[in-house]
Amino acid sequence: EKALKIIADARADGRDSLTEIEAKQVFAAYNLPVTTTLLSKTEDEAVKLAKEVGFPVVMKIVSPDILHKSDAGGVKVNIKDEAGVRDAYQTILKNAKAYKAEANIHGIAIQEMAPWGTEVILGSVNDGTFGPTMMFGLGGIFVEVLKDVTFRVAPVTKGQAERMLGEIRGAPILAGVRGEAPRDKKAMAEVVTLYSKMIVDLASEISETDANPVLVYEEGKGVKVVDARVILK
Ligand code: ADP
Ligand code: MG
Repeated sequence: EKALKIIADARADGRDSLTEIEAKQVFAAYNLPVTTTLLSKTEDEAVKLAKEVGFPVVMKIVSPDILHKSDAGGVKVNIKDEAGVRDAYQTILKNAKAYKAEANIHGIAIQEMAPWGTEVILGSVNDGTFGPTMMFGLGGIFVEVLKDVTFRVAPVTKGQAERMLGEIRGAPILAGVRGEAPRDKKAMAEVVTLYSKMIVDLASEISETDANPVLVYEEGKGVKVVDARVILK
């Protein structure tokens, strides 16, 4: 199966984590709605891929040695033209080398720029007692400061997923506050269910995953996973 092949290739390369590109390929194999993400290895290739993806694009460092890409100055959003791609390519490489001189760099990812949406996070651990377990919460300060998250042992049914969305303290934000339209909770619950199936299927291979952030749009407009991380066993 496709996900197992990606994992086996990373292991053959001596790694115990996937790059964002590989993690998104695994997610996509489970029908999770990830942003189009392509790997460039030269500045010219970055320009070519950015034109294929369509402007504006997001560019990110792809290195198994840099898991928190923003910390390394490795993420540039809203790049609008060819000159911007060339500039970002060089800046990201320079920042990554300054951050970790010995980092193995696979290249620079070129991604579609997802429109703004409500930020949520999904995550999983493989618990010693309960096995694969899902986490859901609102992103940003809600998770960092308020630890406003909820857990379920996987697999998570559609009904359980809907209850998870409702039981965080920040739930009213998904319902729509201050004149904002309600968020697409149906699509979000579906994503929780698909994600939980992924972590059950791959339980013997993966120890931890997260999708941070996932952007949730208005009702009927779905969800986009813009970042993905997978740590192998
Ligand atoms: P990190 O490894 O630092 O978590 P992310 O991939 O999450 O890096 O990128 C940092 C931030 O940039 C995200 O939290 C999000 O706000 C924004 N971002 C990343 N990718 C995209 C994208 N494809 N479209 C829109 N915004 C993005
Ligand atoms: Mg992230």
